Amino acid sequence: MAFSRVSLLCIALLAISGWACAQDAPGLMSCLQQKGITNFTTSSSAPSMYTSMLYFSLQNLRFTEPGVLRPFVLILPRTKQEVVKSVRCCIRQGWEIRVRSGGHSYEGLSSTSDARNFALIDLMNIADVKVDMKSKTAWVEAGATVGELYSAVAEKSTEYGVAAGTCPTMGTGGHFSGGGMSLLSRKYGLAADNIIDALLVDANGRLLDRKSMGEDLFWALRGGGGGSWGIVVAWKIQLLKVPPKVTVFTVKRTGRDQVTELVHRWQSIAPFLEEDLFIRVFIYGTQLQGDHTDVQLTFSGMYLGRQDQLLNVVNKNFPEMGMAAGECNETSWIDSISYTAYTTTADLVSRSNPNKMYFKAKSDFVTSPIPPSGLQGAWKFLEEELKGFIIFAPQGGRMYEIQPSEIPFPHRAGYLYNIQYQVTWKDSTKDSQYMDWMRRFYAYMTPYVSKSPRAAYVNYIDLDLGSAPNGTATVQEARSWGESYFGANYDRLVTVKTKIDPYNVFRNAQSIPVKK
Ligand SMILES: Cc1cc2nc3c(=O)[nH]c(=O)nc-3n(C[C@H](O)[C@H](O)[C@H](O)COP(=O)(O)OP(=O)(O)OC[C@H]3O[C@@H](n4cnc5c(N)ncnc54)[C@H](O)[C@@H]3O)c2cc1C
Repeated sequence: MAFSRVSLLCIALLAISGWACAQDAPGLMSCLQQKGITNFTTSSSAPSMYTSMLYFSLQNLRFTEPGVLRPFVLILPRTKQEVVKSVRCCIRQGWEIRVRSGGHSYEGLSSTSDARNFALIDLMNIADVKVDMKSKTAWVEAGATVGELYSAVAEKSTEYGVAAGTCPTMGTGGHFSGGGMSLLSRKYGLAADNIIDALLVDANGRLLDRKSMGEDLFWALRGGGGGSWGIVVAWKIQLLKVPPKVTVFTVKRTGRDQVTELVHRWQSIAPFLEEDLFIRVFIYGTQLQGDHTDVQLTFSGMYLGRQDQLLNVVNKNFPEMGMAAGECNETSWIDSISYTAYTTTADLVSRSNPNKMYFKAKSDFVTSPIPPSGLQGAWKFLEEELKGFIIFAPQGGRMYEIQPSEIPFPHRAGYLYNIQYQVTWKDSTKDSQYMDWMRRFYAYMTPYVSKSPRAAYVNYIDLDLGSAPNGTATVQEARSWGESYFGANYDRLVTVKTKIDPYNVFRNAQSIPVKK
């Protein structure tokens, strides 16, 4: 589609000023209507519908607070063609765009903007999954949640699964765009490592597939982070062989000394176990009687095999854990997903999450085991703030075989495990207390984690690493977070971005910048 000169000028002004030119709300709405798109709402036309749709999938309650800017219009296209038309209308009318699939962005980047007026295109109605057992592939529309994807695959086969994260309400649109770590990462790599085609609406309003977009853009889409490249409307993924029975487990242990010893051992074992076994560890403070606290851990994970085999492998390699049969559950792959997500298999398709919280998260990668003294210092933070926890997720296996430049996610061989720090709360008046705790904890961890750059995971997006209003960062400014997420792949991402979206139509506070 060819844009008029006025449209191009408008896009250029939008990129420079962060303010939509000719920002004509009736103009946008009449454009949408002329194109046959009726499924949109504004805060003034239907306030209660607008509010319930806006907050339906937004996970982090920090971004529902009064000072946060909200989109002028919320568009819910019903087809891929409606996405194309919505993008064209927004660009023509000079509106900044945000795209949302599952709404799980840790920093609310799919639902908010620094621009006073922006349009939110929400893909929740574009959520079909077509599974083809002949080719062992599936086309999944980007608005489908991972739970919907898991269920659709399980309906067709008990022998094939999908590598994707544990929370069923996450959108495949954002999750796959940032990589997608899962219990299958050690066996099959990230979700993004298993994408074989994609459909994208680009900054010119064109619908492109892998062939027509070219390999550079297809590379960038698979892990280069959501919100920078256009709107992915569908992914084609490779289905992955799973055995008829897998074993999931939950092993809890309490006490500072025991937790220190177990976690210290785990660091040298978990990344090097056979790739069929994934053992992650949650660590948190716990209240004892009175004011006394202690530290607790939960090992949880999955073995692609039967329970007796799992017990053999663990008892041989990690006897200190003392795993017992009663802590394991041998089940089908699909039931292992619901077990891990604390839900039922029937509920995997539910898009609603009744237990939303305020939260802040951060991430790190570790390249050499943290000494016991370093771990004990970390436990002090967890005992100070019982609403905080950390998750150590092992790398290794297939993650080590894939080259760091294969897709934009660069943290492969040499990275032992990923750390996710989280603190969740319900009382919004205490935001600064929890944010401060998180930042102090992260600062404490500096000597123990990767350096130059301090690596981070873009799906655990963290604006503390740096940000620019409206995605206006220069290439140099964005390096501070770009290299943490993408390492040496950052410059290639900038080159792709500059080529495919020179006016920076698709952007957010941490999007990939354009070379000026
Ligand atoms: C409870 C919870 C559990 C999680 N568990 C895991 C896990 O197990 N493993 C893991 O790796 N991560 C996990 N995450 C992180 C998750 O992968 C990211 O938050 C991911 O970005 C969510 O995707 P979404 O579509 O739900 O989010 P959204 O908020 O909709 O989008 C996230 C970003 O991607 C962009 N985007 C969304 N859709 C599209 C699209 N169709 N095309 C282009 N850009 C798009 C958005 O604009 C935004 O910038 C978890 C997050 C939460 C809140």
